[in-house]
Amino acid sequence: MIVVLTGAPGAGKGTQADMIASRAGFRKVSTGDALRKHVQIKSLIGQQAEAVMARGELVSDEILFEILREELGPNPEEKILLDGYPRNVAQAKTLNSLGKVHPVVLAIHLDVDASELVTRLSGRRVCGNCGATFHVRLTPTKASGICDKCGGSLQQRTDDREESVRTRLSVYDSTTKPVLEYYREKGLYDRVDGKGTTEEVFSKLNASLNRLGLT
Ligand SMILES: [Zn+2]
Repeated sequence: MIVVLTGAPGAGKGTQADMIASRAGFRKVSTGDALRKHVQIKSLIGQQAEAVMARGELVSDEILFEILREELGPNPEEKILLDGYPRNVAQAKTLNSLGKVHPVVLAIHLDVDASELVTRLSGRRVCGNCGATFHVRLTPTKASGICDKCGGSLQQRTDDREESVRTRLSVYDSTTKPVLEYYREKGLYDRVDGKGTTEEVFSKLNASLNRLGLT
């Protein structure tokens, strides 16, 4: 069975998905990771996806679903945490078609308010030399703009500039929020407050899984 974990960019979904996998006995399935793996090993589907991305287009729902189905495997007993899928209602409905083997039993929304997300994402700085990541407020370097690890100068990714962040969040709002509504109507929705330390957020997620006897 499947637990879906959704959250806006910057909500801390990736970190929490890893914690749930290692501490609550789930296997994490991330369509993003699986897609990168296919591109890397140049599988047939990976080559198709790469050609699409090279044109600057998004990988189609069909390709993503094929990748997902392979990742899910045949075992209905397995507890799977789905990260990064479904991203729109069409994907949610397609996923529902696998319900006999892999029913979605819970969709958790890791909820962080927009202003906090903008602060988290726009405060990120990356070392141009060694790639280490810092945050101006959460994990500041000793000297402003200088990497603690190698002394290189820190940069902000174009993607993390405030304007880009707001665009990313509005794309998320318009495509993924309806997914939450879809699961709410099925009675499978739960909201978890994404504020707090990673441990605090994990214990709230764990409580949500516990209520359904999933841990
Ligand atoms: Zn560095």
